[in-house]
Amino acid sequence: MLKKRDSCRLCDNDQLALALKLKATPIADAFHAEKLNKKFETLYPLDIFRCLNCGHFQHLEFIEAVELFDEYIFRTSSSKGLVNHFKSYAKNCVESFGLRENNLVVEIGSNDGTLLKFFEKYKLRVIGIDPAKSIASDATSEGINTIVGYFSDELAAKIRNRYGQASLICANNVFAHADNLISITKGIKNLLEPSGIFIFEVSYIVDMIKNCVFDTIYHEHLSYHSIKPLKIFFSEYQLHIFNVEKINTKGGSIRVYVQHSGGPYIEKDIVQDLIQKEESQKLYSHNSLQNLNDGISASRHATLSWLENNCGRKTVYGFGASPTCTTILYQLQLEKQITNILDDNEDKQNLFSPGENIEVISPKIIQSDSNSKIVVILAWQYAEAIINNNINFLKQGGVFLVPMPKFKAFGENFEKWL
Ligand SMILES: [Zn+2]
Repeated sequence: MLKKRDSCRLCDNDQLALALKLKATPIADAFHAEKLNKKFETLYPLDIFRCLNCGHFQHLEFIEAVELFDEYIFRTSSSKGLVNHFKSYAKNCVESFGLRENNLVVEIGSNDGTLLKFFEKYKLRVIGIDPAKSIASDATSEGINTIVGYFSDELAAKIRNRYGQASLICANNVFAHADNLISITKGIKNLLEPSGIFIFEVSYIVDMIKNCVFDTIYHEHLSYHSIKPLKIFFSEYQLHIFNVEKINTKGGSIRVYVQHSGGPYIEKDIVQDLIQKEESQKLYSHNSLQNLNDGISASRHATLSWLENNCGRKTVYGFGASPTCTTILYQLQLEKQITNILDDNEDKQNLFSPGENIEVISPKIIQSDSNSKIVVILAWQYAEAIINNNINFLKQGGVFLVPMPKFKAFGENFEKWL
């Protein structure tokens, strides 16, 4: 169900300005097994607003978390890259913050316990919290105590009563996904021991704009964070951002380190440096998302004109069945042009896309009659691997289009471009 806020998620101010107008889309990851009657597929608004008080960028209309996360099926352990990422994450935390045997680590949005398993190897006590019932119960049966639900100040108080205070609380892909950031932050304040650390990772809107990465805008994300509003927000609750690291995931993200105000860690220069850069780039001015808007229009124009000028080719496929791909399909107005979506993942094959009910099939289909086929690579971050895996398609006259961040076409003269 669609919910609507009328105040900022961080500072509760009700003066908000439209910053980016986007086409409404269906719920981006609602790929489904049965072909649905289109009449019942709702399109939800995706516009981004900026708070005129603290500067925070956010959706005001959003879908209730229960609809999005309770039946969540993605498991962290299915991604080798993520498993390695979390292995070194745990090692860094233990070494940098001197965590000792029996210290308590709490992870908000712990999924299948991949990160907590690494912490457990250091003999730390671990508790996970995750709303996806079946993933959470599997994690618990594998020895990672996982509470099914959403983190809040109430749940934090219960955890504190039962297990004591936490030395470390982490939250990856949560701070951009949750509507109740105030309740979550009050809970963290209460649960964290005096010298404890809270660490979270989110996409960084400055990098989204710079790299023109707009496909991470979909309904799972409610907020697009930057440092200045977060710094003010945490200080309201006597918490202090003392360090920020820039990381490369999702087209540019930040890992933010928080302690109690007056805590043991000295603030690193990077915190003020990033805030100054945000200000000097006029991130908090009225047309700060214009570049992103222009980038989307340029990708749409280039892709649609290319398809129009090459309409002799009959069949257009999309490559990649993920939530980011749904955003690209709709923002580039490709959703009615695509015959099928291709994906190597067999679990996704035979599903239908949200909205237009486009069937997901195996990429094998492009190996025959290649010269009448065009493939738009929606999973653009994997474009190089996809092209390399399908070189024969190009050799036989097929064409790959990579629509973003900058439009490229790979056709007969592909060797020149590779
Ligand atoms: Zn605000």
